[in-house]
Amino acid sequence: MANTETGPIMEFQAVGIGKEYLSLNPNFNALANSLIKTGKKLSHAGMAPFVDIPYNQLPLSQRQAYEEARDSSVLNFGDSNPNIRTGNTYGNLSVLTETRRNREFLITCTGSDMHFLSPGDIAYIYAVLPEQAQVYYYGERAPSSEARIHSAIYRLRQDVKAVVHVHCSEISANPSILGIPITSRFEKQGSIELVNQVVETLKKNPTARAIEMRDHGQIFLARTLDEAVQRALDSKEKLNKLILGIVA
Ligand SMILES: [Zn+2]
Repeated sequence: MANTETGPIMEFQAVGIGKEYLSLNPNFNALANSLIKTGKKLSHAGMAPFVDIPYNQLPLSQRQAYEEARDSSVLNFGDSNPNIRTGNTYGNLSVLTETRRNREFLITCTGSDMHFLSPGDIAYIYAVLPEQAQVYYYGERAPSSEARIHSAIYRLRQDVKAVVHVHCSEISANPSILGIPITSRFEKQGSIELVNQVVETLKKNPTARAIEMRDHGQIFLARTLDEAVQRALDSKEKLNKLILGIVA
């Protein structure tokens, strides 16, 4: 049964076509796990800023991820312990599934906490219709509203198989020092205009491995998730060294 999550035409529209995606392909479990691990690395590195949301207002899949983390180790979450921060983080990650010819992918869902992702925080993007702004997905929750950006990148760049979007304020302040191309103007998150800005910037810079979305954050492109996350971490480190070098 299809359910439409948001918005008028041209605004992002996520259309659910099924909840269960892991059973659709034997490789999806491993891909979902690699997204979960990558999210934790980015969170550790402080590249996925946190937004507080009370535990009881979180989606079920996220509460489950917190509970699993608590069971597995050190942490205490939930209404019983209001001092522990719960919420979600900015940013989103995707990886190509290479199951059909249409460059479909797995991507993190809107409102996920990168530090505690679970399979329920990931959606399988089955098809994207840019003209109608619709994204058809399998998953328990709607995919990131930036799913159309990921889709446009995979269509444009045959060499790219993983995309990592983060909000690193240090890089945003200095993208040109790193040689990272920047979109020509700010556009709203989830808008088709932002998709177009990203595509335009990548067409002007056909070998770019990273771009800065003006007044927003970075997108890193790579052949694998590990490579994409390493590129993000290296960029932050390189920037810090360059700034220290300039100051010294
Ligand atoms: Zn963003």
